[in-house]
Amino acid sequence: MSAVSNSNPAVPSGTTVPPALLPSYLQADNLGPWGIYLQQVDRVVPYLGNLARWAETLKRPKRALIVDVPIQLDNGTVAHFEGYRVQHNTSRGPGKGGVRFHQDVTLSEVMALSAWMSIKNAAVNVPFGGAKGGIRVDPKTLSLGELERMTRRYTSEIGIIIGPTKDIPAPDVNTNEQIMAWMMDTYSMNEGATATGVVTGKPVDLGGSLGRRDATGRGVYTVGLEAARHIGLDIATSRVAVQGFGNVGGVAGRLFAQAGARVVAVQDHGGTIYREAGLDVPALLAHVAAVGTVAGFAQAEVLADDKFWEVDCDILIPAALEQQITEHNAGRIKARMVIEGANGPTTPAADDILAERNVLVLPDVIANAGGVTVSYFEWVQDFSSFFWSEDEINARLVRIMKDAFAGVWEVAQDNKVSLRTATFIVGCKRILHARELRGLYP
Ligand code: GLU
Repeated sequence: MSAVSNSNPAVPSGTTVPPALLPSYLQADNLGPWGIYLQQVDRVVPYLGNLARWAETLKRPKRALIVDVPIQLDNGTVAHFEGYRVQHNTSRGPGKGGVRFHQDVTLSEVMALSAWMSIKNAAVNVPFGGAKGGIRVDPKTLSLGELERMTRRYTSEIGIIIGPTKDIPAPDVNTNEQIMAWMMDTYSMNEGATATGVVTGKPVDLGGSLGRRDATGRGVYTVGLEAARHIGLDIATSRVAVQGFGNVGGVAGRLFAQAGARVVAVQDHGGTIYREAGLDVPALLAHVAAVGTVAGFAQAEVLADDKFWEVDCDILIPAALEQQITEHNAGRIKARMVIEGANGPTTPAADDILAERNVLVLPDVIANAGGVTVSYFEWVQDFSSFFWSEDEINARLVRIMKDAFAGVWEVAQDNKVSLRTATFIVGCKRILHARELRGLYP
């Protein structure tokens, strides 16, 4: 493929960059996240039987809100940020899904992320629809005070559509327990009553759930173990490569390492590190906690970022952003299994290349569902004001993930389709069955 001209204002004009080195959102053939989601739905429609007549429902978000988020900066000037909350589907229950703060957030992305939440929540059978939110901002450029003011104003703006029985936000990329605490407080102040159930992923002292922080990574690990059993891969002697070492990749990496696997490569926004004998994961987690990136970790080699995809490994865990595995690198991946900790990390074209090369992909819509599963536990605990032990939560999480994965595995075998298509079949059928039972209003 020929090099394409770069229209990104951050790159000097006239510069040409080989397509494989361009960020995915600048590639000429990029469908965008919503386009990718629509292709995934199209692949599933033939398997929906009579419910296919409702499939158009899945191709439109129920409701999308764009909000202006003006805040006073510390220097006295006013800055405006663009925020979104999209409720893709609420047939099975209230909207549910995280909020991300990132400079690349777009409406197309939030729409796709909200739709993937609908499929995910249905696939693990928690009684939620799908929703997602975000603000187009690089939170690293804000002071703590600015971050709080932005979070509060955003919450207030989307307050007209969220609520414990309407739509329940949670953490996602660059948002955390503190941000959930501010969101809960802002919503509660506007309502005149403390409403802990309006968000999940809160601090434990504010109605948060034990086990929520590690839940997504624990779910990634759980489905990884199940799939490894099916393909005869021994975790204790396996090599793992992880992209993104935050709340998802860091926890999954830790659990795989505890099970004896060697975490040989880790990539994040700061760079890529490698150690054939296996990285010291607890030391790496401490390094990331101190400096915010894996870059600069002393006990490792530095690898060029694009080489990450060629690392000799058995398990590859993309746990950062969308569209990381594309037709430009899928052919170079050596892993036997890809576990999608991130949402939307693999494009449909890459899915096909991986399938052809016999690389098993555990799709986001089941692999990273551990987070929202424990969010569901948190929401139930908040409603009943009765809190469970961490052992109880982890045991219930593992049971739900294992059962859901077993169901999806069977559908994949029966229909000879990928695990992504199988998970979409399970999820879409549940959503559309609920849709049909409810009927059209009016
Ligand atoms: N942001 C997480 C996800 O993408 C969790 C959402 C939630 O807990 O509501 O699944």
